[in-house]
Amino acid sequence: ISCDKPATWGGQWHCSHFRSVGAAAHLRFNLWNMNKSCSQCNAHLSGNIMVYRPRLVEKIGAEKVAWLERNQDLVRHEIPYLKRLKSVFTKKAKRLEKRYEGFGACAAM
Ligand SMILES: [Zn+2]
Repeated sequence: ISCDKPATWGGQWHCSHFRSVGAAAHLRFNLWNMNKSCSQCNAHLSGNIMVYRPRLVEKIGAEKVAWLERNQDLVRHEIPYLKRLKSVFTKKAKRLEKRYEGFGACAAM
């Protein structure tokens, strides 16, 4: 989301949080807040937010970005919730793996 590296880039891809886990732990598992980025943008440029923000607006719309920016909810991640979350994402990952079988798995993610 934060630069123009191609899917074939050989480095690591990260899940980059628009609002950092440190600043907004309650949005740690919010899908609008989590976007694919290269490890360089995520780890060394703090998400490269000057590019991240306009592209996030393009991706999910200005209203959702504004919602993320002003959201100060308190969320407790209870164990049953985390188990449900894990099960949902395991299923999603399996579906994606199946869909991209034969495409060269990682490059397609
Ligand atoms: Zn990058």
